[in-house]
Amino acid sequence: MKINSNFNNLVPNYLFADVSRLTNEFIAANPDKNVIRLGIGDVTLPLAPVVVDAMKKACDDFLHQSTFKGYPEYEGYDFARSAVSDYYQSFGVIVQPDEVFISDGAKSDCGNIGDIFSQDNTVLIPDPVYPVYVDANIMAGRNIIYAPSGESEHFLPMPNKKIKADIIYLCSPNNPTGAAYNKEQLTEWVNYALENDAIILYDAAYEAFISEGLPRSIYAVENARYCAIELCSLSKTAGFTGVRCGYTIVPHELIREGKKLHDLWYRRQATKFNGVSWAVQCGAAAVFSPEGQRQCRSNIEYYHENAALIGSMLDELGIYYTGGKNSPYIWMKCPFSMSGWEFFDYLLKNAAVVGTPGEGFGSCGNGFFRLTSFNSHEKTAEAVERIKSLLS
Ligand SMILES: *Cc1c(COP(=O)(O)O)cnc(C)c1O
Repeated sequence: MKINSNFNNLVPNYLFADVSRLTNEFIAANPDKNVIRLGIGDVTLPLAPVVVDAMKKACDDFLHQSTFKGYPEYEGYDFARSAVSDYYQSFGVIVQPDEVFISDGAKSDCGNIGDIFSQDNTVLIPDPVYPVYVDANIMAGRNIIYAPSGESEHFLPMPNKKIKADIIYLCSPNNPTGAAYNKEQLTEWVNYALENDAIILYDAAYEAFISEGLPRSIYAVENARYCAIELCSLSKTAGFTGVRCGYTIVPHELIREGKKLHDLWYRRQATKFNGVSWAVQCGAAAVFSPEGQRQCRSNIEYYHENAALIGSMLDELGIYYTGGKNSPYIWMKCPFSMSGWEFFDYLLKNAAVVGTPGEGFGSCGNGFFRLTSFNSHEKTAEAVERIKSLLS
């Protein structure tokens, strides 16, 4: 027996463990300091009541023989797939219900989708970005190249025509930078993918935070249906990080080597995944109902208001940042040419505010720092005051 030796190539990532250990040590040594966490990468507001009602009602179905549910469909119930399709239509993007695969979240799909692609493909991954894409492809033994980004491109890497890639991960609005592509930029990526016969894996987990009229889906771009799979989730849209539900869209036009990628993904899911619970899918459909949308949008608005508080403080201080407007994340340049970790210590010791060092999201994250809007208005406002008086 041999282990998958690709695991030996993973770089340990202790980012969140280190942040939490250092924070706890600081709290233990300074019990009088009221530490405020702006490093939270998880939603904090409760679920929309209409969603919880739908899930409770669905649970009752399990009580009676006539409404009892066994195994769900691997690809999701028709009503849930149609709800996603209708949601896309509400922002002008046509996706057929049978192109939607309901899943337990976008993280699983971001990694699992690799099952349908050869190990021989070269994968292009933006830097900085959500670490799951890198680790999943290291485990699969694929060659990884990076699309580096920094202040000069406002953390929106664009294709380099000299580099050939087969699989391209894009995340817009991005975690951690909050930067979001416009239609012209996405069109460049789609054209690059088509020229290279590549597939884009488009992570739209934060699409619901887009507020500036930017594309909510890669399929807003012409011909993207010939080169892109879209992964999305209700985690940030509707606070489903604990409930677990996402969806992946595989258009019928995606054909490589005579095979429909849609059929490959169906076969993969049917083999290794037994579908999402009836109750969760009923809750997901409620998210897309008119009342569900009103309630979920109001939570997103709450986070936007926090992001705006942080953004105006940085504007006042003259500190460069991306994000905030189309994202729950603000990605700020560390003052005094500090590294992310140096600024982490400085901010914790002098303002008792916790954020996340940029280094944890790729080497291009060095010198940057992620603040999030996933806290209360009161605590965010207090943290903003403390940072302002520290850095003015
Ligand atoms: C939070 C997040 C997801 C969602 O993951 P789930 O498994 O659906 O909770 C996907 N991609 C990115 C970049 C994220 O930050």
